[in-house]
Amino acid sequence: MGLASRIIGLAIAAAGFFILWVGIGTNDSLSIVWSFVGMFVMAMGFAMLTSRSKQREKKPPPPTVTEIRCNSCDFKEIRDFQKGEYILKPVEVTCPKCQSAMTIEGIYIVREEPDEKYNI
Ligand SMILES: [Zn+2]
Repeated sequence: MGLASRIIGLAIAAAGFFILWVGIGTNDSLSIVWSFVGMFVMAMGFAMLTSRSKQREKKPPPPTVTEIRCNSCDFKEIRDFQKGEYILKPVEVTCPKCQSAMTIEGIYIVREEPDEKYNI
C-alpha cells in the first residue's frame, strides 16, 4: 500500500511536470494557465509523497521502568522494564544491602513531561 501510493504520488508529480512542460511549450494564451495547472498538480504529487513518508515514521514507545524492592529492608531500585515482568513477580537479583530476595513493586511508564519552567 505504501509503495503503491508513492508510485501514484510520483506519477501525479510527473504528470504535473508534463502539463507544465506542454504549457510552456504552447504559444497560445492558455500557456500560462497550463503552467499553473502543471505546477499545482506537481505540488500535489510531491505533497502526497512527503505526507506518506511522514506517516510511516513511528514514534518509539515511551520508556517503561520497573521498581524492585527488597523483601527484608526498604531498599528500592528502578531499572528498565523487561518483557514478561509484572507486579509482585519475584526477581532473580538479590538485595545488595542484605542479600534478601527482591520483588517487583511497580511498573511505570515514564512520560516526557512538557517543560513547565515558566519562572517569571
Ligand atoms: Zn535488603
